[in-house]
Amino acid sequence: MAKNVYAFGGGKADGNASMKNLLGGKGSNLAEMAGLGIPVPPGFTITTEVCTYYYQNDGKYPEGLEGQVSEGLRKVEELMDARFGDPENPLLVSVRSGARVSMPGMMDTVLNLGLNDETVEGLIAKTQNPRMAYDSYRRFVQMYANVVMGAKGHEFEELIRDKKKERAVREDTELTADDWKELVERFKGVVREKTSKDFPTDPKGQLWGAIGAVFRSWDTPRAVSYRQINKIPDDWGTALNVQAMVFGNMGDTSATGVAFTRDPGTGEKRFFGEFLVNAQGEDVVAGIRTPHPITIAQKGEGSKLTSLEEEMPEIYKELADIYQKLETHYKDMQDIEFTIQEGKLYMLQTRVGKRTGFAAIRIAVDMVEEGLIDEEEALRRVEPVQLLQLLAPLFEGEAKQKAVEEGRLLAKGLNAGPGAACGKVVFSAEKAVEMANEGEKVILTRTETSPEDISGMAKAVGILTSTGGTTSHAAVVARGMGKSCVVGCGALHIDYGAGTITVGDKVIKEGDYVSIDGTTGEVIEGELPTIPSEVIQVLVQKTKKPEESRIFQQFSELMSWANKHRKLGVRTNADSPADAAVARSFGAEGIGLTRTEHMFFEGDRIDAVREMILAEDSEGRKKALAKILPMQKEDFVGIFEAMEGLPVTIRFLDPPLHEFLPHGDKEIEELAQQMGVEVGKLKQKVQSLREANPMLGHRGCRLGIAYPEISEMQARAILEAACELITKGKKVEPEIMIPLIAHVHELTRQKEIVDRVAKETAEKYGVAIEYKVGTMIELPRAALTADQVAQQAEFFSFGTNDLTQTTFGISRDDAGTFLPMYVENKILSHDPFQSIDRDGVGALMKIGVEKGRATRPDLKIGICGEHGGDPSSVEFCHEIGLDYVSCSPYRVPIACLAAARANLGVSA
Ligand code: PEP
Ligand code: MG
Repeated sequence: MAKNVYAFGGGKADGNASMKNLLGGKGSNLAEMAGLGIPVPPGFTITTEVCTYYYQNDGKYPEGLEGQVSEGLRKVEELMDARFGDPENPLLVSVRSGARVSMPGMMDTVLNLGLNDETVEGLIAKTQNPRMAYDSYRRFVQMYANVVMGAKGHEFEELIRDKKKERAVREDTELTADDWKELVERFKGVVREKTSKDFPTDPKGQLWGAIGAVFRSWDTPRAVSYRQINKIPDDWGTALNVQAMVFGNMGDTSATGVAFTRDPGTGEKRFFGEFLVNAQGEDVVAGIRTPHPITIAQKGEGSKLTSLEEEMPEIYKELADIYQKLETHYKDMQDIEFTIQEGKLYMLQTRVGKRTGFAAIRIAVDMVEEGLIDEEEALRRVEPVQLLQLLAPLFEGEAKQKAVEEGRLLAKGLNAGPGAACGKVVFSAEKAVEMANEGEKVILTRTETSPEDISGMAKAVGILTSTGGTTSHAAVVARGMGKSCVVGCGALHIDYGAGTITVGDKVIKEGDYVSIDGTTGEVIEGELPTIPSEVIQVLVQKTKKPEESRIFQQFSELMSWANKHRKLGVRTNADSPADAAVARSFGAEGIGLTRTEHMFFEGDRIDAVREMILAEDSEGRKKALAKILPMQKEDFVGIFEAMEGLPVTIRFLDPPLHEFLPHGDKEIEELAQQMGVEVGKLKQKVQSLREANPMLGHRGCRLGIAYPEISEMQARAILEAACELITKGKKVEPEIMIPLIAHVHELTRQKEIVDRVAKETAEKYGVAIEYKVGTMIELPRAALTADQVAQQAEFFSFGTNDLTQTTFGISRDDAGTFLPMYVENKILSHDPFQSIDRDGVGALMKIGVEKGRATRPDLKIGICGEHGGDPSSVEFCHEIGLDYVSCSPYRVPIACLAAARANLGVSA
């Protein structure tokens, strides 16, 4: 019989931390902690395999599970010296989910299981605390009813509210044992009314009910949506942990808390967390009571809240020792949950803590310095997209100061997820999704968030809550998503009904702008301008010195490791010297694509371009092209200079010519007048250039074939620019790239032009030019005949935008109307225009690489489609042996890190 249940506790465990797939994150870490001799309440884990079995077999369990669960329970009873269902000495347990990767709050939990009218008496006898016993009992009934019996609704909370009114008290803690006892009965009445069933009294029955419900919670809509957002496979299933209850609500020497071993927002090395005296775990994370800080250092100025360090110094010391032990053991920042039951500390959970991009980088770099991990591990720990946070803008200091002086600072909450965000206030997740889909930036504003809000949180630019601490649901999820987030902003009175936030005499309505600063916790009315991040200030604007920015220093350290550990080259797509310079400062090693057509729109060049398009014959075109030549040459000089001798790939004109002409009647008339041609004639020309499928029409190399003088001018501009710099003693490495070829003959013709012009130019300047002529591989036929194409091409660059378009037969300009639906309905696992479709487009790329190199073993091959900046695509390019990826300048660091991680075998 398969082992489906793994016990832990009493200083030993059946499992360990390496068994995440089977025991889930929580279960494997509880086992590991127990094995390390850290005090954890004993329990057992039912494996993820049982969950998968349950789903595949219509809610049935594998054979023998019941016996294994009973045996697990028996061990817990022994260690706790109490018995499940024993009216004299009852054992109570919690039943919690725990998937391979943490899905905070997405699945269900049942606490205090094992209570009924008899065992509650035993609990009273044991604790001498009837109030706590009945409070636990009512929590159990409420949770069980909700999670297991499907009795959802506000009735329970309303009954508590009525009771408090009746007793004329404000806080739950002011209700007495008798009050709670009476509420238990009323709660049971609600259950009967809502489900037509009695609340179960048999603890074993309760346990199996909870086990089924927790497994089923793997498939609640919020969990499904969380998995979609975080790309967690549906077939992983969750493990389930049954564990002896310990109580943080046994009075003033009891407490419960959550903590991080380092600051999850900034990464600073400081013990950091929150706790509540006389409370259960859910009180801390639910954001209903504002929790207290763990350390004195963490207290804000003038804070009246006492820290754990002050309130329970002995326990604090023990906890601090454990956190050190855990961090040294796991060599990573840990997110821990603990309970203090009448002066005794228990660890309930440890897991690798979620963190912002800022924190991820700082922790990784610091841990290398501390000797805990090596550079390679540091690179494994930082997700490439997390770098985006370091590059994202901040609020402009003066404007913020001014807003504060004008009294627009609405409130200050806790800085739970750094970064500046500015958007329209919305009060529900649905509204957030709706408005974001219309292109609006929204700030999701709630008293507290719950797992149901996950889709809205994903769509919002920032998250704002009026209650909850830095470990609340909102904070944890926002950090995981890299969103700016301010929580616990108690000054805000949020009224969902009225759709308003009231602060003093100010009223903010839904749709009004607010700006939130997740780094400082400030909430400001209206829109605030932003400034570039510190990294940009140092690298691009050069307004800050490297030594003035710790964030920059750490970024740069990490990037130096990435550069050391990657094999794949990283270039940039840049059409101007300015873009080239930005990319250079991020470490680009060349230009992989300069789209020359963008230069045609600058200043009054478009006039000459239009003159060229409208010319009657080759002579007329040449005349117009002669005007463009010096301008293009100047551009290329600038780009070559910015790249300081690194390779620069310049592509010949690619888009269909109609893109350069106006289309509206009025614009056509204006142009006709300006150019001194008849309106009718111009209209006719515009009409003649109209195509049914311009993307598959007269574009790419087809233009150069039809109008060789265009290619000739472009070749001359590139090569003359190169010669001018060579004459000045500068190094240049031009690579001329022919777009959209399907047949090698197209390339042969274009190459003849380039070679002839190169000869003429070299003679004119009296210098030798080294240049390459290559092609884009962006049509399936080019990939399939790459062996022939490589006879002519000295390099390939995959144009995966067009290659995806032509492989799928999906127009890249029209995909927006139906492709999202394909992804939503899982027809496609992802948008192939964002991340390479490995099976189709990727297969063509592989053929292209193999056949190309069969002809020309030293063929240089890169990619310049948008995919060049996407981590998963970068990984694929590494795997199939490309020489480099090329992406937009701001994506260069992401590509560098992704390339290093691919080389280290980390799957993107
Ligand atoms: C491509 O098709 O991938 C490419 C880089 O070219 P463009 O996007 O300019 O068509
Ligand atoms: Mg293309």
